[in-house]
Amino acid sequence: MARGDEHIREAFKADRDRDYLKVVEECEAGLKKGIKVYDEARVYATLGYAYSQLKRYDKALEAHEKSIKADKTSVVAWRYYGITQRMLENLDEAEACYEMALKYSPGDELTLASLGALYVFRDKPMRAIELLEEAVRDGSQSGTTYSNLALAYGKVGRFEEAQEALGNSVSKGYHNWRSVQQRLSDMQEFQSTFGGYDTSWLPAQCPFCNAPTAADTVQWITAKSAKCGYCGSNLKA
Ligand SMILES: [Zn+2]
Repeated sequence: MARGDEHIREAFKADRDRDYLKVVEECEAGLKKGIKVYDEARVYATLGYAYSQLKRYDKALEAHEKSIKADKTSVVAWRYYGITQRMLENLDEAEACYEMALKYSPGDELTLASLGALYVFRDKPMRAIELLEEAVRDGSQSGTTYSNLALAYGKVGRFEEAQEALGNSVSKGYHNWRSVQQRLSDMQEFQSTFGGYDTSWLPAQCPFCNAPTAADTVQWITAKSAKCGYCGSNLKA
């Protein structure tokens, strides 16, 4: 062990306790003294996350840059960088970071869940469904992931699957399920107001991303307008 490693052990302990001031203190001390045992990319990623929790975003971004520099193939480095970018509402940057994380670790459940949630937020429900279904394939323990999957299904009108996913989120202890249930009910009511879909005007492919379009891959806005479920672009009759 190098002299700094003991500080890092304390930092990771504090991270589990969400004591982010202590995380910063111990990480900085450890990095200053030098570390041998712990992975530098992970240490900087943890430090960046702690700074972002403390809303010290300049320091957070600096730490994330160092984390990537230490190991640009580290899934943890990219995922934590993405989390900070998401907190800063830099949505394109967050997406790019999560995509890098998946490039280096394709099945990483936490990244699949984070990027899937971002796609739900950005009205790309079909992309969200791809990732979130993969995230829960082996039985995720995250109620949040199931709740995001429920919303993604709801956005493309797949309400039965949405209800099933919401049921799973409840059984995994997701507390905020009532607001998700309300949003799903609103979506369902909204869709029923214009009855069956007029799909005659839909192009076979999205002109922006070339994905196939169909009644259950687009997010309906009115009977004559929708958003592509893959890229979120507006499609109009
Ligand atoms: Zn598209």
